[in-house]
Amino acid sequence: MMSKAEVRAIIDANIRDLAMALQLGGWRLILCYDGGLGQDGASCDTDPMRHIATITFNPGEFDDEKQVLNALLHELLHVYHAEFELYRDAVKTIVGDRLFAALDSTYQNACEHVVDNALSLLTLTFKTTPKKLIAAVRRREN
Ligand SMILES: [Zn+2]
Repeated sequence: MMSKAEVRAIIDANIRDLAMALQLGGWRLILCYDGGLGQDGASCDTDPMRHIATITFNPGEFDDEKQVLNALLHELLHVYHAEFELYRDAVKTIVGDRLFAALDSTYQNACEHVVDNALSLLTLTFKTTPKKLIAAVRRREN
């Protein structure tokens, strides 16, 4: 179990370069730390109109740097499907809160599948890791 300061230091040292590796340089990334997030180690909310992503970490759910960086990569990949938030907002407006709650689990499930597939592409097909992606950006800039 890591402290907020430990997780924050890892994120601060790596988020810029990992975001650059994923071609997300046009996004403003806001970081939050919330022990109340439950068993999810992290979450990502996006505002596709303003290109802002808010990533929240639950420091107590992590044991080491590798877990933190893997969570950071996972959450940054959620930014790729941010445009669908506009569709989600439209559906919410049209169907109302009760129906939306039922429909939204399908949406959330689809988002996780998209991210899992992108992670598999990176880690299994291309045999890369967050550290390798970060190192590639740093090599390119030096
Ligand atoms: Zn996710």
